[in-house]
Amino acid sequence: MSDHTIRIEHQYLDLPSFFYSRVQPSPLNGAKMVCFNDELAADMGFHSANKDQWTAVGAGQKLLDGMDPVAMKYTGHQFGVYNPELGDGRGLLMWETIGPDQRRWDWHLKGAGQTPYSRFGDGRAVLRSSIREYLCSEAMHHLGIPTTRALFLVSARDPVRRESFETAATLMRVAQSHIRFGHFEYAAYHQGKDAVKTLADHTIRLYFPDLMSLPEDERYRQWLAAVVERTARLIADWQAVGFCHGVMNSDNMSIIGDTFDYGPYAFLDDFDAGYICNHTDQGGRYAYNRQPQTGFVNCQYLASSLTSLIPEDDIRSALRRYEQAYNGRFLQTMRDKLGLTDPLEDDLSLIMDTFSMLHQHNVDYTLFFRGLSTLSSRGPSTVRDLFINRSAADDWLQRYRQRLSQETVDDERRERAMCAVNPKYILRNYLAQQAIQDAQTGQYDTLHELLDVLKRPYDDQPQYEIYAKLPPNWGKHLNISCSS
Ligand code: AMP
Ligand code: MG
Repeated sequence: MSDHTIRIEHQYLDLPSFFYSRVQPSPLNGAKMVCFNDELAADMGFHSANKDQWTAVGAGQKLLDGMDPVAMKYTGHQFGVYNPELGDGRGLLMWETIGPDQRRWDWHLKGAGQTPYSRFGDGRAVLRSSIREYLCSEAMHHLGIPTTRALFLVSARDPVRRESFETAATLMRVAQSHIRFGHFEYAAYHQGKDAVKTLADHTIRLYFPDLMSLPEDERYRQWLAAVVERTARLIADWQAVGFCHGVMNSDNMSIIGDTFDYGPYAFLDDFDAGYICNHTDQGGRYAYNRQPQTGFVNCQYLASSLTSLIPEDDIRSALRRYEQAYNGRFLQTMRDKLGLTDPLEDDLSLIMDTFSMLHQHNVDYTLFFRGLSTLSSRGPSTVRDLFINRSAADDWLQRYRQRLSQETVDDERRERAMCAVNPKYILRNYLAQQAIQDAQTGQYDTLHELLDVLKRPYDDQPQYEIYAKLPPNWGKHLNISCSS
């Protein structure tokens, strides 16, 4: 199964038993391996992956020695409303392993069947949504944005009822941690202050070990500040790459600052500041331009659950870090995207005006920045061609060129640096949709090829030019089902 450099643990089970329920996976029939992430498996220390064995694990037909599956209990705020009934309703934490590089991995089998927290759900996941999660979590990783990962995806014959009958699937999601903000809300509002302290100690010991040497008060204070900062930086990364999460409920916020839970997400095609990717979000609570504020609100929910552990003043000062961390990261990333290495006072207004201009002219977000990255070698046409109103492009380019004239870095170096931060390939909705449609007929080549392209989003891959084009007409503004 693995080489002996991995260790098997299940430290989540050391928490009080009210944090979980032991549940066996409900087996699926006719399981097939759709994707297996060989590189990740190797990183995790699983060198001699036996695919049949993993298929059986994915199908809930087999447990490996040491696996002791549990459904985690958490609660959380969904669309601003507290829901005490949450928890892993269809996923199971199988075990934790520690790889040859000493990194810890939680293994979470999503779609494994019903649990005590399933409420009215069937405990299953469908092939369509599992492929979307696999694709996007890997795409985010290769873009350099913190995220959960996808280890393997298994499809099955069992029908699952959504808007219509679909194919069942499971995804082995792995991450350093599956602890969410909502775990702390559950501890605080249902189990009391000892539970909050136990969970915080567990979290800090495993995921923030550098803080262990500090005196307790200082440790908790710095920990909350670190979580707030990681969250702020994560969301700045989303904004800069044009990623919309879609369901930023506090049960979908990772305590270590990973992008967590891929549902109705989307990358922006044409820039639209108010874009809402989740069509059940009628009020646009989680629209693209509301994500930074929502990240902060989620940090407030987390902070409110920690009042028994951290004095109010310390909580307030930790929360104040959000804005600073967000602005700092966002400004730096946007400067990098524009190729500005010598900071100037006016850069922020250039950046904000650029967003307004992109919004006004509905310019493709990814191709705009990629086009800018080769402005001096290839000329302005790749950028200009993205505009219906060419004179708007020319006006903006004139201002931009003027700003570049104040740079000391030469064009060639700037182009190289810009290509390394402005992706050429992103997971456009229509690309995911093509891969899903083919997979639903049992043809997985499209999916595998797309995964391959997304491994090197910043490199020119001449054989895959087609993946870097504007979406075709049918692929614009797709109404993707949000059910999963
Ligand atoms: P999500 O919207 O995916 O973040 O899920 C919110 C809550 O609903 C979590 O507690 C999930 O475990 C649960 N859930 C979602 N889909 C299902 C399902 N098909 N069966 C059981 N529970 C589900
Ligand atoms: Mg969720």
